[in-house]
Amino acid sequence: METPLPTQSSVDISVVVPLYCEASNIDYLFKRLETVLDQLGTTYEIICVDDGSSDDTVEGLKRHRQRNPRIKIVALSRNFGKELALTAGIDYANGAAVVPIDADLQDPPELIEVLVAKWREGYDVVYAKRRSREGETWLKRVTANSFYRVMERMSKVPIPRDTGDFRLLDRRVVEVIKQLPERTRFMKGLFAWVGYRQAEVMYDREPRHSGQTKWNYWRLWNFAIDGIASFSLAPLRMWSYVGIGFAVLSFLYGSFLLLRTLVLGIEVPGYASLMVAVLFLGGVQMVSLGILGEYLGRVYEEVKGRPLYLVRDTYGAEKVPLAPEASAQTR
Ligand code: UDP
Ligand code: MG
Repeated sequence: METPLPTQSSVDISVVVPLYCEASNIDYLFKRLETVLDQLGTTYEIICVDDGSSDDTVEGLKRHRQRNPRIKIVALSRNFGKELALTAGIDYANGAAVVPIDADLQDPPELIEVLVAKWREGYDVVYAKRRSREGETWLKRVTANSFYRVMERMSKVPIPRDTGDFRLLDRRVVEVIKQLPERTRFMKGLFAWVGYRQAEVMYDREPRHSGQTKWNYWRLWNFAIDGIASFSLAPLRMWSYVGIGFAVLSFLYGSFLLLRTLVLGIEVPGYASLMVAVLFLGGVQMVSLGILGEYLGRVYEEVKGRPLYLVRDTYGAEKVPLAPEASAQTR
């Protein structure tokens, strides 16, 4: 059989769209998205997750739902951030394949056709890789680039460069993602972590259709720290080596001082070297404490065990329970 559609899924493709104040984009979004999906000749649903928008995104979505009941809405109780909005969307998706896509049309919906074609070849994860980043500043490109480089070095799971959340996930991957209990959800890391057969498809990232990005540099920085701390222990381990390095250096320096005192006698000056050593080591200790704190904070988040997100209203969407065989597989 060529098409790997599990029989229990009621639709073929679920497109998951997280939206935070995207009222100005939704008309155009649905126009392009529906054109593509209609041409595919498969059944589909569009799960729209409103991430606590303060504009009339939800009203706009409801208007479109009246026109096309395959548009389903999950409204979160407040702004939980894109990662959690996506998590919610995945929990509510019925499709044999799930395709997360941005609402601002930076991810071209037309590419879904290519993703689906690859999926039918038998791949479980087909991710869309950016060939170019149109409409992004020089600084964003440089910082994104260095982030991927650091991430590649530190994480044992290879997280593909220049990929966002725009990709196609087979149902079996979705079931695994749904079971991951962690609260700090660095989605593209998790998508890579599951493994299975993965394929990539290239595309050109377009500029935002309308509105502004919700990711300022502070938010991106925190996102990068989340990513590194969720997928790498290297920052914790590094301090043992730094410590050993300092111990060896100070032993050498100590021996040198001892010898010099023995040979040349006692010497009073030395204020500068003392200050430098004290301040520098103080700084190093602060940084290592901070890094311990990063991980400890994450452990605390996990231990609290709060729900990942809260749903205020749903329109036509229903949470999909875990597939029984998926839960048997991992327990
Ligand atoms: N988004 C969200 N919650 C947030 C921030 C963003 O659901 O708190 C959504 C947003 O509506 C969009 C997608 O995530 O559909 C990507 O956001 P954005 O375009 O601001 O990010 P960028 O493309 O600049 O990385
Ligand atoms: Mg965007």
